[in-house]
Amino acid sequence: MHKLVIATHNQGKLLEYRQLLADLPLEVVSLDDLGITEDAPETGRTFAQNAQMKALAYAEMTGLATWADDSGLEVDALGGQPGVYSARYGGPGLSDSDRVRLLLQALHDLPSPQRTARFRCAVAIALPDGSLHTVEDSVEGVIAGAPRGGNGFGYDPVFLLPDRNLTMAELPPTIKNRISHRGKAAHAAKLLIAQIIDQMPSHKQD
Ligand code: IMP
Repeated sequence: MHKLVIATHNQGKLLEYRQLLADLPLEVVSLDDLGITEDAPETGRTFAQNAQMKALAYAEMTGLATWADDSGLEVDALGGQPGVYSARYGGPGLSDSDRVRLLLQALHDLPSPQRTARFRCAVAIALPDGSLHTVEDSVEGVIAGAPRGGNGFGYDPVFLLPDRNLTMAELPPTIKNRISHRGKAAHAAKLLIAQIIDQMPSHKQD
């Protein structure tokens, strides 16, 4: 059976990706399954660079095909920030709701047409021979004036989908997974995996 490493320690992400890939003839393994605690570098300027760096680093460490992602929020009025720094916006030690508060302060009384934003996600698949495949997708929205909804995580409560007049945190998870940046990128990555599955080793390559 071909093996695919999912390069995350986030159990929620792992479960979602396992479910997505369940119908492929693949054994999906996590970094925890392999006992890998080492962090890969994430110093890229773009989501794609970060996903590629992680995928290559873990493919080299494990000798197996590796799936890695990177995602975040770009706010136009902030010149695309927080971008690749989304998880660290405002510095260390902050909670998701602290970061949401900071973001709302940064946009204070900007009117809705100037509050445009998008979530972006890149997924990179690296093979142990160093070859790389990358897909990206995004979802457009507007930063709401105040948080709404209890689902999701991160910036979901202030990410308003204008067509639905709902924030990401007000969507049921199944719908979020279908329309989100990560859901769409992951779906494209799955199609890619199906094409390269025969090149994926079933055991560690030295
Ligand atoms: P990562 O790709 O898991 O490293 O996510 C980076 C950061 O981007 C997260 O910590 C969140 O702050 C933000 N982010 C990424 N995807 C989402 C999402 O679907 N909803 C809300 N925030 C997100």
